[in-house]
Amino acid sequence: MTPVTVRVPAKVNLQLSVGPRRDDGYHDLMTVFHSVSLFDEVTVWPADRASVRVTGQDASQVPTGRTNLAARAARALATAVKRRQSAVQIEIRKRIPIAAGLAGGSADAAATLVACNELWQAGLTQAELSEIAAGLGSDVPFALLGGTAIGQGRGERLTAALAAGTYHWVLAFATGGLSTPDVYAACDRLRDAAPVAPPELSTALMAALRSGDPAAVGLQLSNDLQPAAVSLRPDLRRALAAGEESGALGAIVSGSGPTCAFLAADARQAGELAVALTGAGVCRGVVRVQGPAPGAAVVPGEPG
Ligand code: ATP
Repeated sequence: MTPVTVRVPAKVNLQLSVGPRRDDGYHDLMTVFHSVSLFDEVTVWPADRASVRVTGQDASQVPTGRTNLAARAARALATAVKRRQSAVQIEIRKRIPIAAGLAGGSADAAATLVACNELWQAGLTQAELSEIAAGLGSDVPFALLGGTAIGQGRGERLTAALAAGTYHWVLAFATGGLSTPDVYAACDRLRDAAPVAPPELSTALMAALRSGDPAAVGLQLSNDLQPAAVSLRPDLRRALAAGEESGALGAIVSGSGPTCAFLAADARQAGELAVALTGAGVCRGVVRVQGPAPGAAVVPGEPG
């Protein structure tokens, strides 16, 4: 069997509305996911013993044992398709930073589902893979789908969104990560038991996305986790302000942070923003990306 490689995108949230804390500890969300062209690549081979190797961005911090989300995804698929010889060697080439609010671990899980489905010729449909994905994590189904989509529940119930155009973003990476559970806990603390309304989809954001006008989209970006992320990492305030002062159409913490996402009018302005943010010394690095990007997909093999 030849190895299979899958490319999978990072995501930002254009809207992240967080409802009250549920009895099971999760929060009901209304979110608009948007995949961007920052990709991890996952390659799987059949092997006698399961293993995970990680190279690239933040590789030394990614677990390589059974807890790695890619390894968990391979085991979940093997169970679902009742495969006996299911050990795979997994190699993850990371470009998505870890614990950054970009759903990198979820992306690797989604990529592994697609890769093993192909390697084993298991023939599961996108809907079947999505069901397994939801059991692995709230953001995993979206990494399979890509594009721009509305997420409900914990974010795993998806509906594709009508969105026109291509959006140019600059992502500013922070030094160190933020733990998603810590950020939700800080959000609960900041709300201090005040009543929280059920989260609702922003009709203004949906209209802006249909128009394809980045200026309109920039005005409608929202993230209920931003105050919590900023309370844990006050330095993010400087990064957001630097982007706004440099003309970003929108500046927002991505998911649970600490990555900040800045929306530009076009590729040229994204270049200028990237230079300004780097010069301001408010982050450990920047990348320019475009969205929406396609979801997890097999990379065609080298000919011959
Ligand atoms: P999200 O936005 O989905 O909450 P995140 O982007 O903030 O997630 P991840 O990069 O997915 O964070 O990492 C979260 C944790 O998952 C890490 O602290 C790491 O220990 C664990 N993890 C398990 N597998 C992976 C993987 N393949 N890549 C990155 N992290 C992984």
